[in-house]
Amino acid sequence: MKYISTRGNVAPIGFIDMFLMGLGEDGGLIVPESIPTVSGKQLDQWAKLSYQELMFEIFSLYTNDEIPADDLKRLIQESYAGFTSPDVLPLTTLNDSLHVLELFHGPTFAFKDVALSFMGNLYAYVAKKQNQVINILGATSGDTGASAISSVRGKEGIQICILHPNGKVSRVQELQMTTVQDDNVLNLAVNGNFDDCQQVIKELFADIPFKSKYHLRAINSINFVRILAQSVYYFYAYLKLSEKARENGVNFSIPTGNFGNIFSGYLAKKMGVPIKQLVLATNENNILERFIREGVYKPEGFRSTHSPSMDIQIASNFERYLYYFVGEDAVAVTARMEKFKQEGQLTFTEAEVARIQQDITAYSVGNEECLNTIRTYQERYGYLLDPHSACGIAAYEGAGRKDDGAFVSLATAHPAKFDEAIRLIGIEQQFPERIQELFDKPQQQVIVDNVKADIVARLEGFYRVYQ
Ligand SMILES: *Cc1c(COP(=O)(O)O)cnc(C)c1O
Repeated sequence: MKYISTRGNVAPIGFIDMFLMGLGEDGGLIVPESIPTVSGKQLDQWAKLSYQELMFEIFSLYTNDEIPADDLKRLIQESYAGFTSPDVLPLTTLNDSLHVLELFHGPTFAFKDVALSFMGNLYAYVAKKQNQVINILGATSGDTGASAISSVRGKEGIQICILHPNGKVSRVQELQMTTVQDDNVLNLAVNGNFDDCQQVIKELFADIPFKSKYHLRAINSINFVRILAQSVYYFYAYLKLSEKARENGVNFSIPTGNFGNIFSGYLAKKMGVPIKQLVLATNENNILERFIREGVYKPEGFRSTHSPSMDIQIASNFERYLYYFVGEDAVAVTARMEKFKQEGQLTFTEAEVARIQQDITAYSVGNEECLNTIRTYQERYGYLLDPHSACGIAAYEGAGRKDDGAFVSLATAHPAKFDEAIRLIGIEQQFPERIQELFDKPQQQVIVDNVKADIVARLEGFYRVYQ
C-alpha cells in the first residue's frame, strides 16, 4: 500500500513516511492509493476479536509490514493499557434502537485519546528506530492538545508544542494541557480562536524549509494515521451489536468539528462496514451542515458554544471527502480548493447536493437544544451526556431516519470535562479523581498574540534542530 496526496503532487510513499509527513507537501491531504476492502465473511470472522486485536487486523491492511507484527501488537497493547474500561470503548444501550459508543475512557476523557495514545507510541517507536528527533506541532480546540501531550510527555526524542485559543477552551481542558511539567512540552495560548491557531499551523507545515529544518510532525486529523485509528471503532461498534439489533441496518451519529471522526466512518464504510446513514452533527458553527443541506461551503461568523471542541469553521478533512466525491481526481480537487481560496466559498449543483446527501445526513444543534438534550437524557435514562455527545444525540433525534434500524451515537467526551455547560442546567456532578486533582496543580503556558513571527520565534527557541 502506498499513499498519495489529494492534490496529486506527492510521489507515492510508504506507511511510516506518510505518518511522518502529516500534511501532504503539495498542500493536499494524504490518502491511500486505494482503499482495501473487507468482505462480509472476513467481517464475521472478526466478530469475537478484542478492540486491540481488531485494530491490529485493520492496521495490517495499511502498514505494508513496515512495522513487524509483534511490534505493532505491542504498540497497540501499550496504547490502550491506560484506558479505564476493559472493553476500551464500551457500547451502552439506551433503548431498542439507540446505542451510545463511549469513546472517552482514555487518559484525558475525550475521544482524541483513541487515536493519539497510539500515535504518541508510534512516534516514540519511529524516533528510536530511525534515531530521529520528533518535533510535534499541533493546534487544538482543547481535546487534541490535552490528549497529544498526555501521549508523549516525558518521552525520549520527542518535543511537543500545542497552540490553543487563549481562554476559549474549557477549564479542565486548559488544566490538562498546562499542568504538565515535563520540559518536552510547550503550551502556547494564542489570543485568537481555533481557526487562527490552525491557520498558523497549516502555514508552517506548508513552509517546506521550516518543516524540514525542524522535522515537524503532525497530530491533527490531517494525519491519516489518526483517521485510520478512528475507523477501528466503527468496525467494533458494528460487530458488538447483536445480529438482531443489526437486522434493519446500522447508522452512526457523529459530533463533528474538523470532519475527522466522521471521515473515519466514511472510510470504514468504504472498507466494507455496512453503514446506512452517517449523521453529521454540528453545533451553531454549522458550515458543514450548510454544505450538505444547501451545497454551499462557506465559513461564517465564529460562535462560541457549549461544545468548544466543535467550534470550527474550516474543517481540514473536508478536502479528503471532496477527493472521493470528485472520483479521486486530484486535478479537480486542486481546482476547487484554489477557487475556495480565491472566492472564500464553494458551491455545488443540485445534482451534486443530492449525491452528497446520499453519503451524509446533516443536522445543526442550537445551544438551547444541546442543553435540553442533556436534561432530557438525564431524566429519561439517568444518562449524563457531555455537550458534544449531546449534539450527536440531538442530531439522531432530529434527522435520523428511524426506519433505518439501529443507531450508534458517538459519545466523544466525559461530561466532567465540560462542567461549565452541565452546571447551566443545574446538574451537579462528581469529578473523576484524575480530573479533580488537576485543580491543585501549577500551570505552565506562554500567552502569545496571533502573530506568526512571534509564534515562530517561540518554536525556534524550543524545538531541537535536526542535524
Ligand atoms: C474533536 C472533538 C470533536 C470533533 O471531532 P472532529 O474529528 O474534529 O470532527 C467532537 N467532540 C469532542 C469532544 C472532540 O474533542
